[in-house]
Amino acid sequence: MEEDFDIETLAVRSGIHRSQFGEHSEALYLTSSFVFESAAQAAARFRGDEPGNIYARFTNPTVTAFQERLAALEGAQSCIATASGMSAILSCVMGLLSAGDHIVSSRSIFGSTVQLFGNILSRFGIETTFVSASNASEWEKAVRPNTKLFFVETPSNPLMELSDIAALSAVAKKCGAWLAVDNCFCTPVIQRPLDLGADIVIHSATKYLDGQGRVLGGAVLGSSELMEGVRNFLRTAGPTMSAFNAWIFLKGMETLKVRMDAQSESAREIALWLESRPGVGKVYYPGLPSHPQYELAKRQQKTGGAILSFEVEGGRDAAWKIADSTKLISITANLGDTKTTITHPATTTHGRISPEAREAAGIGEGLLRLAVGLESANDIIRDLSLGLG
Ligand SMILES: *Cc1c(COP(=O)(O)O)cnc(C)c1O
Repeated sequence: MEEDFDIETLAVRSGIHRSQFGEHSEALYLTSSFVFESAAQAAARFRGDEPGNIYARFTNPTVTAFQERLAALEGAQSCIATASGMSAILSCVMGLLSAGDHIVSSRSIFGSTVQLFGNILSRFGIETTFVSASNASEWEKAVRPNTKLFFVETPSNPLMELSDIAALSAVAKKCGAWLAVDNCFCTPVIQRPLDLGADIVIHSATKYLDGQGRVLGGAVLGSSELMEGVRNFLRTAGPTMSAFNAWIFLKGMETLKVRMDAQSESAREIALWLESRPGVGKVYYPGLPSHPQYELAKRQQKTGGAILSFEVEGGRDAAWKIADSTKLISITANLGDTKTTITHPATTTHGRISPEAREAAGIGEGLLRLAVGLESANDIIRDLSLGLG
């Protein structure tokens, strides 16, 4: 599709290849293998001399449609779909790195990513140094001659700390490393890391791309050259996205822009209201002028996003009381749903971290994270008021 369409248009119209039946809505091809017209065609497909599908671990037309659509939204040459967000991160590393390589990663990343880098890849000779999300000079100091990859998530979870993608990309380029950005919280509607100099974008499609909390999936995006390595790993090892899930994501992406706009606007209203409430301490939301990186947020993001966190006076008891008093909001660790969710990070997503490390990271017992959905902001505010003070 032509590249100069707006993101709303690309979300609905890109990646479509109609079959002989002329279906208007994207077809779901539930088939694990594909039939050849002749033995010679089979041989040509296997040799790679003729394009076309062979087996769904390699390609499936519904998955290909998902990849083309997300690539269009992120402005990427190539997209590789995976079974989950974590398998996207694993496939990226397995496709591009080798034993003896080194990763510099933000400390403030998804818990399972910390485990993958710190406890699993280390067993295979890939070491990771964790540094501050927002301090680019720490990244430069952590670089070694064998550093291959910078890994960052912005805004961070749950404190909404931003990393300056353009600045990190400059450091990565100087050091000969690739910069990968987990763009799960923002999606391409709010932030396009490749435009800012990143080499790789990672998605957990499970979150906003579906947006309705139904299925797991992920993606790795970047130049065709870089993605070739990731594709080779995926074809062989098999953490492939299912056709059914790809079809769900295709439909989810069609409403991504309107959902992100509406959910961001509600999050901003709720953040402002929380800031004015007695009993509430700090509110962490990149769309608030009080956010220490508000200027960077305005430069790097189109909106403040749909996730915020806030501290309540009275520690864990007060925080749990708010969560337990809600009638509408769901208590869950997930995010990116049309239904608003509330999480107490200190006892759930960040519960495995030692209390000292948690305090040092600023994740106190009174902190709550809210992933704002599509209910009205008024109703969410009323729901939060039930347990507040
Ligand atoms: C959820 C999440 C992941 C992992 O994705 P899964 O689809 O659950 O495997 C990775 N990064 C971020 C920022 C996430 O929120």
